[in-house]
Amino acid sequence: MPPRAIVVHYHELWLKGRNRSFFLNRLVDAIHRTLDGIPVERIGRPGDRILVWLGESAGSEEALRRLEKVFGIAYFASARTAERDREAIREAAWEEVKDQNFSTFAVRAKRSDKSYPYPSLEIERDVGAYLQARLREAGRQDQVNLRAPDLVCRIEVSPGPVLVYARKIAGPGGLPAKTAGKMVCLLSGGFDSAVAAYKMMKRGAHLSFVHFYGTGGQAGESSIHVAREITSRLTPYQLTAHLHLVPFESIQREIVRSAPEEFRVLLYRRMMLRIAAAMAERSRALALVTGDSLGQVASQTLENMVAVGAAVPWHVFRPLVGEDKEEILAVARRIGTFEISAEPFHDCCPVFLPRRPMLRATPADLDRAEAGLDTAALVRQGLEGAAHEKYRLVAGCVERVARPEAAVRAQGSGGDAACDAPGA
Ligand code: ATP
Ligand code: MG
Repeated sequence: MPPRAIVVHYHELWLKGRNRSFFLNRLVDAIHRTLDGIPVERIGRPGDRILVWLGESAGSEEALRRLEKVFGIAYFASARTAERDREAIREAAWEEVKDQNFSTFAVRAKRSDKSYPYPSLEIERDVGAYLQARLREAGRQDQVNLRAPDLVCRIEVSPGPVLVYARKIAGPGGLPAKTAGKMVCLLSGGFDSAVAAYKMMKRGAHLSFVHFYGTGGQAGESSIHVAREITSRLTPYQLTAHLHLVPFESIQREIVRSAPEEFRVLLYRRMMLRIAAAMAERSRALALVTGDSLGQVASQTLENMVAVGAAVPWHVFRPLVGEDKEEILAVARRIGTFEISAEPFHDCCPVFLPRRPMLRATPADLDRAEAGLDTAALVRQGLEGAAHEKYRLVAGCVERVARPEAAVRAQGSGGDAACDAPGA
């Protein structure tokens, strides 16, 4: 019989003291919504873990795959269920470990149902001895090692059937979705801002995305398409998202027309921050997020980052500031944004690029450079021109709702990329 229960372990949440139940409720909520469409009988919280009981017709492979994107999960495992007698537990443990590769093992039992007559230690000894005997019979020399075993066979006795599992699957860690407040992320379509978003989401932040696009480029190179795809890839981690699409070319032309050439890129960035800040204010977000990394390009020297950031009285979080490109790309590959960002697309920023960009601007330099601009009017223009889209996870797929149109399944370049495809 296929396993019908998934055991979910979390860590770090216990650090939160009195907020523990808030974090746990959010985690259970995220698990519920992630498993939407898969028959789940119930989700319980015995002791310090979560048990997901799958319905008769549920596919456990699909459930396991989706859980890999639930922040707050340290690890999880699909469990064998056994009757509550010793024979059945021993047998289930043997079935669970017999095909595994290991040379040392331990049995760890947890009895959260105290009406069960045998204490944990006794279950561990009994099952451990049984496994060792069966291993010997099978001609294997595997040893018990309680300190640092290769394989741990876990036995959980809670009300209902006993759970036995030994194959742990790593979760993404972090804190559950929607536990840390709202932020607005400037999403360019490049590698960095998608990874920056992931890192903040991993700490429980709920992000809205804003993407600035130009016109031009070849058909199929739209940066809008790239921003949509990345938003679709990131949505499962936080369950819902907004994407604001802001036409930027006329704002850039205004900057090109009235500001000294060497400051252009920095002034584009300042206008982006101002428009993002206005959006943050409207949605009651508390901070902005960018993908800047110290010294990566001319606009990201320490001086330039400070001078750009001085345009808004907001916290601008730059979670990649201390990371190497290689580290960033490794995360992008892992979370499935790499191939999207790697596609050629029409980035608005290289348009009208200065021949010699300023490397060390001060806030005062930039204030002077944009003295001829009506920044408030440009912010209004950006807000008025913006289109808004909502994304949400429904039955394991990301659905896009372009307001005011009806819901459409977000389409990827290779079919329904918005669905939680294996390895995505
Ligand atoms: P990325 O890989 O995120 O594009 P990058 O290293 O290419 O980053 P820049 O292009 O200089 O760096 O952009 C720095 C940051 O400014 C980006 O990480 C992003 O947060 C923001 N940004 C740049 N261009 C845009 C855009 N068109 N729309 C939204 N945000 C943008
Ligand atoms: Mg970029």
